[in-house]
Amino acid sequence: MDNDTAQKIRESLTADCTKCFGLCCTALNIVASSDFPINKPAGTPCMNLQSNYSCQIHSQLRDKGFKGCTVFDCLGAGQVVSQVTFNGQSWREHPDIGKKMFQVFPIMEQIHEMIAYVAEALSYDIPDDLADKLRKQLKELQDLTKLDADNLLSLDLVMYRFSLNELLTSASDFVRKNTIDKMPGVRKFKEFDHARVNWMGKKLEGKDLRATDFRGAYLIAADMRNTDLRAVNFIGADLRDVNFSGADLSTSMFLTQMQVNSAKGDVKTTLPSYIHRPFHWIN
Ligand code: SF4
Repeated sequence: MDNDTAQKIRESLTADCTKCFGLCCTALNIVASSDFPINKPAGTPCMNLQSNYSCQIHSQLRDKGFKGCTVFDCLGAGQVVSQVTFNGQSWREHPDIGKKMFQVFPIMEQIHEMIAYVAEALSYDIPDDLADKLRKQLKELQDLTKLDADNLLSLDLVMYRFSLNELLTSASDFVRKNTIDKMPGVRKFKEFDHARVNWMGKKLEGKDLRATDFRGAYLIAADMRNTDLRAVNFIGADLRDVNFSGADLSTSMFLTQMQVNSAKGDVKTTLPSYIHRPFHWIN
């Protein structure tokens, strides 16, 4: 798959709140924290959700303590559940479908996340047999998005995630190994495996971390200012409040918009082309 095709798939996973019935503001169970000031049970609309499904405090979310809302990204699952799975019927006008709709939303969200990862893996220069397996998985996942609500609810997503994880790890290992071979000065491959390690609050400022495997790592509030993070695998890493000011993330792998939204950065941070610079990084 070329980069343009991967980009088109990513664009199809862009949230369009105008076509969604406020599902992230209604379906999810949210516990009060520094990211969201109130408890909101699953299936209950947030007090700030208006009758037209827009947010009453959209421009003041961070100031009013709703930081989490500026981080969240449904990857377009909301509009697909609203317009495709439920054919444009909203839970407000049809309360009988509400429960099912709210249960389907997080399932669709996970499917969209897996599609985004597969599209990214296919944009890399990887062996043909691996690319074939990923293409097969992409088709299966895209077909899942067209299922009806009952079939979506009966899916075993753990099984899909399990097989996908293996393929994504293989793709990441291949790309990192190639990067190390091509980039002079990058240390040996094994020294860079930090998967699932706790790096919370670590001081890593200015370090050369190219091709590190930060898969599933806890990097909360780590100081990564001015670090070189090219070809780093960030899949599933917790990047809340990591300081990426001045860092080079231009070719970081499996980095999501939600991870970046949850981190800190500035105008000097270099991001992959498919990631938008968060508004709060500039202001
Ligand atoms: S504060 Fe606004 S964006 Fe956040 S959940 Fe409530 S309505 Fe949605």
